[in-house]
Amino acid sequence: MEYADRISRIPSYLFAEIDREIVKKKKEGIDIINLSVGDPDLPTPGNIIEALSKAARDPANHRYPSYEGMIEFREAVAGWYNKRFSVSLNPENEVIALIGSKEGIAHTPMAFLNRGDVALVPDPSYPVYRIGTLLADGEPVSMPLLEENGFKPCLDEIDRETRRKAKLMFLNYPNAPTAAVAGREFFREVVDFAVDNKIIVCHDNPYSEMTFDGYKAMSFLEVNGARDVGIEFNSLSKTFNMTGWRIGMAVGNSEIIAGLGKVKENVDSGTFQAVQIAGVEALKSSMDSVEKNMEIIEERRDYMVESLNNKGWDVRKPKATFYLWFPVPGGYDSSIEFCSQLLNKTGVVLTPGVGFGEHGEGYVRCALTQPIDRLKEAVDRIGKASLR
Ligand SMILES: *Cc1c(COP(=O)(O)O)cnc(C)c1O
Repeated sequence: MEYADRISRIPSYLFAEIDREIVKKKKEGIDIINLSVGDPDLPTPGNIIEALSKAARDPANHRYPSYEGMIEFREAVAGWYNKRFSVSLNPENEVIALIGSKEGIAHTPMAFLNRGDVALVPDPSYPVYRIGTLLADGEPVSMPLLEENGFKPCLDEIDRETRRKAKLMFLNYPNAPTAAVAGREFFREVVDFAVDNKIIVCHDNPYSEMTFDGYKAMSFLEVNGARDVGIEFNSLSKTFNMTGWRIGMAVGNSEIIAGLGKVKENVDSGTFQAVQIAGVEALKSSMDSVEKNMEIIEERRDYMVESLNNKGWDVRKPKATFYLWFPVPGGYDSSIEFCSQLLNKTGVVLTPGVGFGEHGEGYVRCALTQPIDRLKEAVDRIGKASLR
């Protein structure tokens, strides 16, 4: 089969290879402890499930939803942004419902890039920024996220030619995979850079509620002028353990939202209304469930950080997300070599950092998405294995 060039430009998905390896091991009867997926293992809160079942029984919700999302959902998003971030949004034109934020991220480059236009993409990062750009015939240009810079890009180092060609910039704090956080000062710098260079900023914020130790993440839109240059993606996936439900949102600049809406209008037909109604229930809830979740994840974080450091690994406590991001333990040349040895010797699956971009090489990601007794089992096996 002859595929389109834009498909052949997409690099083979390292994570798909890891999945194949896992399937093979499982067939051999090996008990796999998978700490590689960023997918919560905890259930969606009961009140949200109740809201869905009730709404699913109403025939009014069985028809095509509106393209931009129900006004009730968009109002709930605006209400939540106001309460949580003191950001006021017009639900009519500054909020759009998404079939998960991944969908909106993947479609945005289609609305703003012409062939050869540049999108600035953090490296390492969530792969969709780069791949969405490639699918729109754009050119992703990496912004290295280095530990010495707190895993934030150095905007000063972006050369003039790249600035001229750049139409979009993707950012994500609290960050996956590095778990780094960013504050007002950095976002201020981003807005100024975007104004100077006429660049649209897409800030991806699905971990805004997954924070620890009293740290509160910001919305990009809290910064003066952000709404003139950008939008923010957010999602119910991680906050409410709803990855399978497929509901998220983009908020901010009305013209950017309109551009994304134009693409969506022609490729999808919106999110099932019953799911949107459940989303309203989630956003209007007390957020107690989120706090309870974070207590569970905090216990896992503290246990893993301490135990892995005791094994001589160099793991720091993140302020946010459910990931640990740490240097490849000593004796291994590459993150892939380390992860495949670990899998072979212990059945524990971690993600090689290079899967998130070349600047992820030298690091490993551990997702805290298994119950504590499985984490203990993982640490136990790691302790007994003869790793280099
Ligand atoms: C999980 C995740 C998303 C996607 O979330 P959905 O709303 O489920 O599509 C987007 N960005 C990052 C960085 C993520 O980790």
